[in-house]
Amino acid sequence: MSRVAEGATGFAPALIRWQRHSGRHGLPWQGTRDPYRVWLSEIMLQQTQVSTVLGYYDRFLQRFPNVHSLAAAPADDVMALWSGLGYYSRARNLHRCAQAVVSEHGGVFPSSAEALETLPGIGASTAAAIAAFCHGERISIVDGNVRRVLSRLLAFDGDQSQTAPQRALWDMAQALLPTEPTAADMVAYTQGLMDLGASICSRTRPGCERCPVQSLCLAHLAGTVERYPVKTRKLLRRHESWWLLIWRCASPDGQKVWLERRPARGIWAGLYCTPVFSGEALASESPRLAGLVVHELSPIVHSLTHRELRLHPLLVDVPSDRAMNSHADGQWVLLDRLEQVGLPTPLRSLLPQLPG
Ligand code: SF4
Repeated sequence: MSRVAEGATGFAPALIRWQRHSGRHGLPWQGTRDPYRVWLSEIMLQQTQVSTVLGYYDRFLQRFPNVHSLAAAPADDVMALWSGLGYYSRARNLHRCAQAVVSEHGGVFPSSAEALETLPGIGASTAAAIAAFCHGERISIVDGNVRRVLSRLLAFDGDQSQTAPQRALWDMAQALLPTEPTAADMVAYTQGLMDLGASICSRTRPGCERCPVQSLCLAHLAGTVERYPVKTRKLLRRHESWWLLIWRCASPDGQKVWLERRPARGIWAGLYCTPVFSGEALASESPRLAGLVVHELSPIVHSLTHRELRLHPLLVDVPSDRAMNSHADGQWVLLDRLEQVGLPTPLRSLLPQLPG
């Protein structure tokens, strides 16, 4: 803990000063203590950039202005509005969490991080962010960006892909918190951690020359910034090829495509998608394709956390809009009504641009 003792004295005041002067202000979820709005922004900001979140955040609040309206909404409406943000388990948990807040907490989010963490989809760092922003709780967030900042600040070489060193860093994060902060201090401190990680202490080429805690940063002083954070377990992505069979037909209202709901678990769970086949499974479709013209469209590479998908779209026009699979939860959807169903990100770009 000696590293913390060295860094602790000046870190929190320097970070708070810098955030108030030079950090991010005026984002739509700042300046509110409404836990619903803060929670929504925190969930959206996991794995997604601020610039992307801005539009989604506004649309969500227009459609679901409070936790009651979100809890009462059909799951499909929530998924449709989330469509394109990716990591869809966030949307499913968002909906479940809203329902839990309404049914178990009378529509009021619990105020402590400890209680918040019991709700669906709220992890320790998100719980800390909500409690610090909304209630001034003296607790530190430790998300991926903050792990990077603090590992460097403290030259902490514990492996951040292992649980025990993660916990140790969390303890150090708690030790760095401002002493006897006001609620406003906790807002600036928490936002400062986020801002520093997002804008200066970046993964590659951090801007140490502009950093407000440069003089305290042990990795910078030792010239070893690139060594941190230590992570020995690298993410391995599996490569897979999927064929997307796009059944299309014309109707008096416009062109339609056949979409089926994906299973409740796995990739794109619960979203609507064209029928998906592996190479071998596609062969079983060949009797249905006999006599039809199959257009092979350009493949799309789509990266997920643990997989890289090579998607091969096959466009097939059919004469009638009879159900294409009576065993699936499927429907024909007009191409100009696609926003009404939750679609995986690559299909949101692909389907509106199908060749004539
Ligand atoms: Fe990050 Fe550099 Fe600041 Fe250290 S001095 S916290 S490495 S930006």
